Amino acid sequence: MARPVVAIVGRPNVGKSTVFNRIIGERLAIVEDKPGITRDRIYGIGEWNGKSFSIIDTGGIELDGEDMILKSIRMQAELAMEEADVIVFMCDAKSGLTQSDEEVANLLYRSGKPIVIAVNKVDNMERADHIYEFYNLGFGDPIGVSGSHGMGVGDLLDAIVEKLPELEEEEYDEDVIRVALIGRPNVGKSSLVNAILGEERVIVSDVAGTTRDAIDTPFEKDGQRYVLIDTAGMRKRGKVYETTEKYSVMRAMKAIERADVVLIVINGEEGIIEQDKHIAGYAYEAGRASAFVVNKWDIVEKDDKTMKNFEQKIRDHFLFMTYAPVVFLSALTKQRLQKLLPVVKHVAEQHNRRVQTHLLNDVISDAVAINPPPTDKGRRMRINYATQVTVKPPTIVVFVNDPDLMHFSYERYLENKIRAAFDFEGTPIRLFTRRKS
Ligand code: GDP
Ligand code: GDP
Repeated sequence: MARPVVAIVGRPNVGKSTVFNRIIGERLAIVEDKPGITRDRIYGIGEWNGKSFSIIDTGGIELDGEDMILKSIRMQAELAMEEADVIVFMCDAKSGLTQSDEEVANLLYRSGKPIVIAVNKVDNMERADHIYEFYNLGFGDPIGVSGSHGMGVGDLLDAIVEKLPELEEEEYDEDVIRVALIGRPNVGKSSLVNAILGEERVIVSDVAGTTRDAIDTPFEKDGQRYVLIDTAGMRKRGKVYETTEKYSVMRAMKAIERADVVLIVINGEEGIIEQDKHIAGYAYEAGRASAFVVNKWDIVEKDDKTMKNFEQKIRDHFLFMTYAPVVFLSALTKQRLQKLLPVVKHVAEQHNRRVQTHLLNDVISDAVAINPPPTDKGRRMRINYATQVTVKPPTIVVFVNDPDLMHFSYERYLENKIRAAFDFEGTPIRLFTRRKS
């Protein structure tokens, strides 16, 4: 199911990133113990009252020159208006309503998007009186919050969740593999799309599925149906904000949410940078299947070790994604291109794979026999049984005598044993430990 996207916009220093961190805080504690997931976060997943959404702080877009502040928030607002389902417009009770707040409000007003107006730095009763002037902006009740004290964040979440759109119906049949190509500008995503669609025996359907402004391209090869998600988003349109990282991350987030398989396209000539990790991290957290595509392999100077070394570099940078296969190819010369769709199909199958309970328990018994669970203060964890509860991604619940005795390293060990027995290439696996004695 595709999560809706929430964007926070507002002047610098009103406290956007402080509130953003509050909203994603709880989950972050869980995710952050995974090695290699970057700490410098620009997106997160929020959960409230059983609803889940992704959230991005659009702040920090840097522009030079005069009117810098106004220009950069205008850009944030445009970005949010184009990509977000709900916009949180954040103001500051300490500085009160300013001229630039009003200008941004005018922009947002025209978008017709649901807007939540949050007034931060309401640290005390006296400041609480300051929120009333924000009624003038015309977005309904302003929500007073204090990011630094954590007050009002629940009310803000209530207001956000209330405005989230209903989850959209699945647009494609269950047997269609939905593929998103993500990566920085210029890595060759559009070239790759054209190359795939131009391949022999690829039948492109002329009925393009559409979701709002996203244009998807359905096609069929070797009896398997696929759809390339958001091929429109790969076209460059040349607005200033479209060159910013926030924009490409936001666009990628939405494509990832709608995909089964995420192809993380890397420029083989340039190597890996931090931005590649942000989007790969999102694909991991969203539980999608993934593969790395190292493009432009035609212009890389190679010897017999180049491929191996490049793959090692990927492994070092994406420690949380060791399960993802790597394909080297050239969209331009079509060299090795025919290797790609079989990999996509394979990882999609693994993502949707269901392992029988008795087979799973055989593997776990063997794993326990070789390497017994850890003890803590003299107590040993006992595993009663495990069962796979869902697919996409495969999610396994392990029932034990006391979940507190499960350690991260043992979980890792079990995951490795499960992978060794059942493949699961290209898909994350979720392991949950529950009590049952
Ligand atoms: P951003 O530029 O909008 O992302 O703002 P930041 O989150 O970086 O915060 C800007 C400054 O405001 C920092 O010094 C924060 O510590 C401070 N700040 C954030 N939230 C609050 C708050 O609720 N009350 C007060 N008094 N200060 C806050
Ligand atoms: P996008 O921004 O990720 O969609 O990238 P494009 O598909 O627009 O490609 C960016 C540039 O890289 C264009 O000039 C392409 O011709 C070039 N390019 C794309 N794929 C390859 C490739 O496999 N080899 C080489 N040498 N150039 C490529």
